[in-house]
Amino acid sequence: MTNHLYSEIRSAMPHRAKTFLETPEGRILTYGDVETLSGQVANALAALGVAPGDRVAAQVEKTPEALMLYLGTVRAGAVFLPLNTAYTPAEMDYFITDAEPAVVVCGPDRRAALEASAARVGARVETLDADGEGSLRRAIDDADPQFPDVARDADDLAAILYTSGTTGRSKGAMLSHENLTSNARTLVKYWHFSADDVLLHALPIFHTHGLFVATNTLLLAAGSMLFLPRFDLDAVLELLPRATSMMGVPTFYTRLLGSAEFTRDLVAHMRLFISGSAPLSAETHKEFSARTGHAILERYGMTETNMNTSNPYEGERRAGTVGFPLPGVGVRIADPHTGRELPAGEVGIIEVKGPNVFQGYWRMPKKTEEEFRTDGYFVTGDMGLVDERGYVSIVGRSKDLIISGGFNIYPAEVEALIDEIPGVAESAVIGVPHPDFGEGVVAVVAPRPGARLDEGAVIGALQDRLARFKQPKRVVVVDSLPRNTMGKIQKNALRETYADVLS
Ligand code: ATP
Ligand code: MG
Repeated sequence: MTNHLYSEIRSAMPHRAKTFLETPEGRILTYGDVETLSGQVANALAALGVAPGDRVAAQVEKTPEALMLYLGTVRAGAVFLPLNTAYTPAEMDYFITDAEPAVVVCGPDRRAALEASAARVGARVETLDADGEGSLRRAIDDADPQFPDVARDADDLAAILYTSGTTGRSKGAMLSHENLTSNARTLVKYWHFSADDVLLHALPIFHTHGLFVATNTLLLAAGSMLFLPRFDLDAVLELLPRATSMMGVPTFYTRLLGSAEFTRDLVAHMRLFISGSAPLSAETHKEFSARTGHAILERYGMTETNMNTSNPYEGERRAGTVGFPLPGVGVRIADPHTGRELPAGEVGIIEVKGPNVFQGYWRMPKKTEEEFRTDGYFVTGDMGLVDERGYVSIVGRSKDLIISGGFNIYPAEVEALIDEIPGVAESAVIGVPHPDFGEGVVAVVAPRPGARLDEGAVIGALQDRLARFKQPKRVVVVDSLPRNTMGKIQKNALRETYADVLS
């Protein structure tokens, strides 16, 4: 038996001298370095006492070393557990207690704050800073680059990734070697990635998008990455001429569109722009096409499932949709209560099945059981529909569904119409308590720079376009919507803030 994921990565490797990634400072990691460094990491972890199946938690800045920590952990047969750098020590205590890692790697400035939580579960603490220096780095430098990969089966765990916590407390999704391998293999083909690709990588690497969708795909394609520590508009504008492709969250694209330097000429050579992790508004999609001539390719995935659907590479990339089920992935729309499959065009809960779907929530067997149907379909919690041509659209999360006077209202439908109103940059539609209707619709709207919006005008613009029960009873104008690092609008926070506006 081999190490299922890493042996696939190794067998896809080009010649050793080829660049795998390059940082804005011009530091280059070749494919040879990937093999050497990940071997050293694996040896260093083993020397620290990490055994196959152990968790290696990492709350570290985005560096080439952090990426090698992922690959080294996999080669050591252990389970990689990346954590959002924004988590406070109190939040980290929950993750460390829940996951019981053998090693916690963090920034040196965090060490003191995490020691107690780590000690309680018997974990060692090692450090790695934003320059790739720290105690782990020293252990890596001392280690032998030759490492006999620990054999791991398709079903063995490669990672536990906590969900973003948009709808509640984050859950640890257990991802197997085959979950990751199969999805990356599919994406290389579906999105036509090749050794000629240079991906502009400005996403965080503690989330499935930057870690697995971007990195694993480029590794299996033997391509290269321009590896930015974060999305910085000027840096992205400067590097785009050297890239062939980019993966981003919708806010990357709205920020690019906000710059006059982002022109058709600048990106005429580009092959592909991909968007995911949060809904890309049809307005942004259209504006991007008009400005650049490129249709952004939107896809849909989750921490638990990797990627499920994607707009086509060739063929129409339809604004406001997330495209077709990926090869090998079963997608169906079901009645949320009975689980009965619904016909085309009807809105229901999106359920998925395939080699991409996770092994269950870490130490939450009851939750895992609740979210799977008896025939193996995973209940995503997203509401959507499939149109007559097979394109999947997401209308909102089931937790964001608004029920007003007994009628269902899907936020995405109302948001799409608001986004079309001149002067609107973005909107979030939420349900808040209403004395007569149970819930009522409230729209929180951010204007474009320089534009002025008022409540009456927004409500007026929707009069003839939406049934009365779907119309917002209040429109709140704000400078910008609250978003997390992945560009997801924090509707929980909005519901709290505006809980009393209709009562
Ligand atoms: P939690 O599960 O902890 O509440 P989360 O669902 O935001 O957080 P992730 O796994 O990071 O955590 O995000 C997956 C979700 O992101 C999907 O279930 C879906 O709601 C949303 N999403 C991803 N891609 C898209 C997309 N293209 N369009 C709309 N929504 C998307
Ligand atoms: Mg989720």
